[in-house]
Amino acid sequence: MKSLLITLFFLTNTTCTDSTTVYICNSPGAKKYHNSPKCRGLSNCTYRVISIDIEKAKKDGKTLCGWEK
Ligand SMILES: [Zn+2]
Repeated sequence: MKSLLITLFFLTNTTCTDSTTVYICNSPGAKKYHNSPKCRGLSNCTYRVISIDIEKAKKDGKTLCGWEK
């Protein structure tokens, strides 16, 4: 019974891990990352929108876009 609960916990946890991928405008001046590739903060991006790991984005000094939350 206990192992079942642990399995459930892990299953619930893995469904939440998609939030570690964020989207950025691949422009040299981009300072923000976005939770959604359809964010309005990305709509005026003239470069390619790419997905990267959130830790990588933070390491590059990027912060969460003002339209999110
Ligand atoms: Zn955004």
